[in-house]
Amino acid sequence: MYILIIVTIFNAIHYINVILPIPLQKEFTYKITAAEADFLQKGMRVAVEFGKSKVYTALVHEIHEIAPEGYEAKEIHQILDETPIVNELQLQHWAWIAKYYMCSLGDVFRAALPSAFLLESETEISLISDFKGENELSDNEFLIVEALQHQARLSIHQIMEIVGKKNVFPIIKELLNKEVISIKEQIYEQYKPKLVKYIQLTSTWNTPEKLPELLELVNRAKKQREAVLTYFQLQASKKPIKVTQLQEASNTSAAVIKSLVDKDIFEYYFIQKDRIEFNGKTSEIKTLSEHQQIAYNEITTSFETKSTVLLKGVTSSGKTEIYVKLIKELLESGKQVLYLLPEIALTTQLIERLQHYFGAYLSVFHSKYSMNERVEVWNNVLQNKQKAQLIIGARSSLFLPFSNLSFVIVDEEHEPSFKQYDPAPRYHARDAAIVLANLHKAKVLLGSATPSIESFYNAQQGKYGFVELNRRFGNVLLPEIELVDIKEKHRKKRMKGHFSDRLLIMIQEALDEKEQVILFQNRRGFAPVVECETCGVSPQCPQCDVSLTFHSYRKELRCHYCGYRQAMPHNCGACGSNKLNTKGFGTEQIEMELQELFPDHKIGRMDLDTTRGKYGYQKIIGQFQAQEIDILVGTQMLSKGLDFANVSLVGILNADNMLNFPDFRAHERSYQLMVQVSGRAGRDKKRGKVAIQTFNPYHQILQQVSTNSYDVMYKEQLEERWQYHYPPFYRLIKITFRHKDFNRVEEGANWFGKSLTSMFKDNVLGPTTPAVSKIRNYYIRHIIIKIPQKQHLAATKKNIIRVKNAFQSVKEFRPIRLNIDVDNY
Ligand code: ADP
Ligand code: ZN
Ligand code: ZN
Repeated sequence: MYILIIVTIFNAIHYINVILPIPLQKEFTYKITAAEADFLQKGMRVAVEFGKSKVYTALVHEIHEIAPEGYEAKEIHQILDETPIVNELQLQHWAWIAKYYMCSLGDVFRAALPSAFLLESETEISLISDFKGENELSDNEFLIVEALQHQARLSIHQIMEIVGKKNVFPIIKELLNKEVISIKEQIYEQYKPKLVKYIQLTSTWNTPEKLPELLELVNRAKKQREAVLTYFQLQASKKPIKVTQLQEASNTSAAVIKSLVDKDIFEYYFIQKDRIEFNGKTSEIKTLSEHQQIAYNEITTSFETKSTVLLKGVTSSGKTEIYVKLIKELLESGKQVLYLLPEIALTTQLIERLQHYFGAYLSVFHSKYSMNERVEVWNNVLQNKQKAQLIIGARSSLFLPFSNLSFVIVDEEHEPSFKQYDPAPRYHARDAAIVLANLHKAKVLLGSATPSIESFYNAQQGKYGFVELNRRFGNVLLPEIELVDIKEKHRKKRMKGHFSDRLLIMIQEALDEKEQVILFQNRRGFAPVVECETCGVSPQCPQCDVSLTFHSYRKELRCHYCGYRQAMPHNCGACGSNKLNTKGFGTEQIEMELQELFPDHKIGRMDLDTTRGKYGYQKIIGQFQAQEIDILVGTQMLSKGLDFANVSLVGILNADNMLNFPDFRAHERSYQLMVQVSGRAGRDKKRGKVAIQTFNPYHQILQQVSTNSYDVMYKEQLEERWQYHYPPFYRLIKITFRHKDFNRVEEGANWFGKSLTSMFKDNVLGPTTPAVSKIRNYYIRHIIIKIPQKQHLAATKKNIIRVKNAFQSVKEFRPIRLNIDVDNY
């Protein structure tokens, strides 16, 4: 009897449950050997076969001895890690995300890991064009490289055939490490701006009174004297002076200038720096002003009783310096800190600023970074290295393997881009960060000049601590905001193109003072559309339900949804008339008008088109900062994280279109956007000016913006949300249906809608047809479910899943693409 028991233990078959990076709810079980069971731990990766000979990277979730029901467990292909790369707290966080946002654990797994960790048989790889070290390749590696020299891309499946075995992941991994190959999709470019050398007087000599003394000093060196005099001439333009510029204007050589630098009369400096490399120089953190110190004290006191605190501080109040002080103490005690920002706010400016304080502790993590860099950051966080103690990143940095997280900052917490729309997991980074922090027993600081209604509500309810900072640093006044009635201006014929006479005067005044101007043009709904003057028809995208937009630079029409493009036609497709007009206006058109109005000034444009390519975004910011651009026209991108000392005027060209957007958040968003954009004016010393052009200056939101009345805005919006059943009083879940067959999606969505209505009655809206009802030939329908606060959320979601399962068991409905978005924004 005794012996028999031992035998069964010895013969026990070992299994693992794994998470596969696919949208299936179930976990799958694989068979492992006793030795493997000994070695494997939760959070390690294994390669497994799934489906028709597909190989995936899967994550070990459980090790046990229970055979799966209903299928024969397969063996694993191989083990990919020596130690876990995902920890227990991450798995708990993933489980919350999957449950709350109604997706699979596999969806979260796929989103969480850098793609280099997720090789699968469908992954395509290609050769890095300038790789070195061909001699250091093993035989198998060499075979792969050779094949890639004949064929640009190979799938891992094909590689399995080339080397004649299935266990190729380690070979691929090695080639990735050696930077010989890269994974498709990601053609990353490293940003290496050229360093432009500027020159300035050292602080000793930098006053006009010192000029006679200075000239005396260089009196006998004719060339040096010439350079100094020319410098004063150039300085009158108030722009930074390039070394080459001084050389040319003074007709001297680099050596002459260098000798002046050696004499400590001039010094060199650079405006743009590489965003990754850290030059090692650090500076002490700034001493907080009295008001910052009070806010700081209130935050730390608030953290004694609350785990989350909202800091509402006007633009340029010095929130960042407060974060810096909070971070500093934690880093010194060895803790990890996460600083979350919306992607567009992750600018060189901010990163550089933080590098100066925390160079040795800081790593940056976001999607623009190369695969290798992201893997490196992951590993550094996993090993709790000093270099990765402070992570600054966009929403996906939530998924890093923190083990010792003590503090999370969510800056610009009101930003809608914290929500991921597509694909699943459709999570909100702010909310997911709060959950993550709770798992780590860490504190969260939400910061904004214009908090979201939700967060402000939570603070009012006492759920979050609340601290306010109403003064700009250095007591610079908030900008003076002027509303310009363009209805009136049109009537009196005082418009030139899209500019009122008033705005033009303000621009001229700023330019006369050698100051810079930012002009904001909201993108949404503003694309220039072509319309036939004779019959009124606009050319449509053949694949989507939208009008094509006109791009004057290439003289072509484009679809912003699917990328379709065609040359600008000469005649109307409907009636043949040749009277085609461009309607509406985009940033491009504004730029052209400005060039005509201010021919002697340099105009720049910042929007999706100009910033797409090789770090165009950083380039334009650099140029603006170096004052090579006088007027910058741009979209939303202008509103975040930028600090330009010399901007004295911000113009908003048309406020109405954002206000009229059909969305329950349109008013809140407009308020936030206008206040944030205005905040770019007059950040240094002098009070800035803002002009807002509108057809309706009495609109309550514009009144609130111009008087800086957040509280009034909040109260009004909250009342509307209450009345019309929107967040924060109701939660929203949006279901989207898509299919190429119009009737099928219609029927499916109706069926789903009826099933939901029988449960949730009036709280189901739809199915509705969205404003853009077809994209890439897929017809779209929406259903929105409103969930009152007292209704049990988890139970509600379960019921929705039940309907979804029933839906997907109907043969005709199964091909309909369906996704669920919780807390839809
Ligand atoms: P916010 O994040 O609230 O917009 P910032 O932290 O960017 O404000 O501060 C605005 C400007 O004021 C920055 O140029 C910053 O360097 C400066 N500043 C803020 N606090 C201090 C301080 N305590 N000492 C010196 N300069 C400060
Ligand atoms: Zn299209
Ligand atoms: Zn026509």
